[in-house]
Amino acid sequence: MIINNSLDEVKKRENALSIIKDWVLNKSRESLYDLTGLSGGFIASPSEINLLETYVGPAIFEEELQNVGIEHMGGEKVLPLNRTSSGILATILTLVDEGSNVVHYLAQLPAHPSIPRSCALVNANYSETDNFEEFSIPDNTSLVVVTGSTMDHKVIDLDNFKKVIEMAHERDIPVMVDDASGARLRTVVFNQPKACDLGADIAITSTDKLMPGPRGGLMSGREELIDNIKVKVNQFGLEAQPPAVLAMLNGIKNFNGDNLIKSFSRKDELFDLLNENFTYFKPTPTGVMIAPEDLAREISASHNLSDKDLAFVFSFILLKEHGIITIPPVSMPGASATIRFDLSTSDAFNLDLGDLNKKIVSSFNNLEKIVINEDKCREIVFTF
Ligand SMILES: *Cc1c(COP(=O)(O)O)cnc(C)c1O
Repeated sequence: MIINNSLDEVKKRENALSIIKDWVLNKSRESLYDLTGLSGGFIASPSEINLLETYVGPAIFEEELQNVGIEHMGGEKVLPLNRTSSGILATILTLVDEGSNVVHYLAQLPAHPSIPRSCALVNANYSETDNFEEFSIPDNTSLVVVTGSTMDHKVIDLDNFKKVIEMAHERDIPVMVDDASGARLRTVVFNQPKACDLGADIAITSTDKLMPGPRGGLMSGREELIDNIKVKVNQFGLEAQPPAVLAMLNGIKNFNGDNLIKSFSRKDELFDLLNENFTYFKPTPTGVMIAPEDLAREISASHNLSDKDLAFVFSFILLKEHGIITIPPVSMPGASATIRFDLSTSDAFNLDLGDLNKKIVSSFNNLEKIVINEDKCREIVFTF
């Protein structure tokens, strides 16, 4: 095994960042292809940057974010956060009592790890299911969670979404929606309503997923709940700082749904090309992906690597040889190891899909060659 625990994941991420730094300094930023779908943009004018003082910044930009954020997310009030995970943690710290139940419905397991981890922190009983028939709300439930679009971009069925909210509200239980990518994917590509317009009490989105904003979280919902959560957020330092708030504001203002819709049709072209050589790639709403267990099925050589290890080694080969950034090398501990090639962000716009296909095939052929050599695989993931 190559990646065994969270520390290994932190280490592989450090290595990936070193590789990216070296690429940018010794080649160019333009020759790197960030296909993560997380662009981490920072759109700001010099005059705006001059206002980024500890108190002046929030006075100006948080005020404006109220209007722009509510337009994007619905709800009565928004709260900018350091990450989506911070918003999930703060909501659970605020609303979930020790020993109570938290139930989660999502289109496909697994949930983002911040949800079970936050529940464990407050000693709540957490359960999640992707089988709607099995979903129920037991007595002593303090929070119902719904994921709008999973880490692998599987989007919830709208009828199930509505039913879960209805079931929770019949019993006066608040609903938190993890809408990290869903706030845009669900609404723009699948024409679903905003989570708050469907009745969610709290919805949280990630401001660098499928939009040109910084890594951060934006929460929206019922004002009274947001105010209570904001107390915890400030007590534990989970809020977004002024530079991130400014970039969130401009990221949302510059969000263009057309790019998502364009990638929705372009992904079919890439999917068809890949199918000439592979069997188990799958389309996502805005690109293609291969899950660790599916990557394992593509490999004919015998080896001792876990499915996840294969995904890490493959994604590091793509990065080192072709400058293609996918999520596994750069992700935080516990994130999905599925390799997604997302066509919705700026690096993908000018990309020749035939060329991308060739690079994926060539990286895969190299993976086939080295899987038998575990030391070599370890070296690819951990050393620069
Ligand atoms: C990305 C993601 C998160 C976490 O976002 P962070 O900004 O990394 O905290 C949570 N839930 C889902 C479904 C995600 O895709």
